Amino acid sequence: MGFLNGKRILVTGIANTRSIAYGIAQVLHREGAELAFTYPNNKLKLRIKKYSNNFNSNIICPCNVSNDDSITQLFIELKKYWSTFDGFIHAIAFAPSNQLNGDYVSVINRESFIIAHDISCYSFVALAKACRNMLNVHASLVTLTYLGAQRAIPNYNVMGLAKASLEANTKYMANSMGPDGIRVNAISPGPIRTLASSGIANFKKMLSYYESYAPMRKNVTIEDIGNTAAFLCSNLSAAITGEVIYVDGGFNITHTNKLE
Ligand code: NAD
Repeated sequence: MGFLNGKRILVTGIANTRSIAYGIAQVLHREGAELAFTYPNNKLKLRIKKYSNNFNSNIICPCNVSNDDSITQLFIELKKYWSTFDGFIHAIAFAPSNQLNGDYVSVINRESFIIAHDISCYSFVALAKACRNMLNVHASLVTLTYLGAQRAIPNYNVMGLAKASLEANTKYMANSMGPDGIRVNAISPGPIRTLASSGIANFKKMLSYYESYAPMRKNVTIEDIGNTAAFLCSNLSAAITGEVIYVDGGFNITHTNKLE
């Protein structure tokens, strides 16, 4: 008996087995949740199908969050399997790669600002808005943010702004949906090598810096993030909403600006 028995959770953002969303799916599955998955384009469909089988699921739905019709279609499709469900994991972010390298003010431009905020922040509330009437009481929505929302971290640049907006989004969503018994939280992981993070300049240096200076003196894993996400999806966290929970070995409490 897992602590998520009877819960139905939609997982977005799996690109491969290194994805944070994959680690989250592993723990949600371990704790007994039924899972459904999205894939952003046809190129990834077969891969996500294969992964879904690892989690005893046959529910995979296309969804590119940059497109409103695609979001609407996602829930029309999901409704064929689940008339209601208990929450989703939003593990989606994107900024053009030229934004994640170099001096912030020099590299920023209007188009990249809009894209980063649209895909990495607006998509969270867009998904919530589209499935609101399918969410059970006690449903839980979980997104992934990063410390770059709070501190100016070299090369994180426009993604830091998008994450700051995502953290505010989490609070506003929590306040809006709380009266319906729905909770909304963000997890802020330390750096983990994934497809998305490999686009950030000097990412390797960041990993070794965290390992040296985080109080726990080690980097976090996708399983660490999965454990916290599972807790947030469960009734064990019934009184927690609108929070950003750091899962970073304590790095965020240290006093250092030397991350470069
Ligand atoms: P990842 O590359 O495995 O996942 C990013 C996902 O975003 C991919 O599955 C990709 O398909 C999806 N995506 C991008 N644009 C999309 C779109 N238009 N529609 C639908 N899906 C789209 O990388 P990850 O590191 O697992 O990222 C997951 C989340 O964790 C992101 O929000 C990221 O910012 C956050 N995060 C990552 C780290 C880290 O160090 N890896 C640290 C803190 C926060």
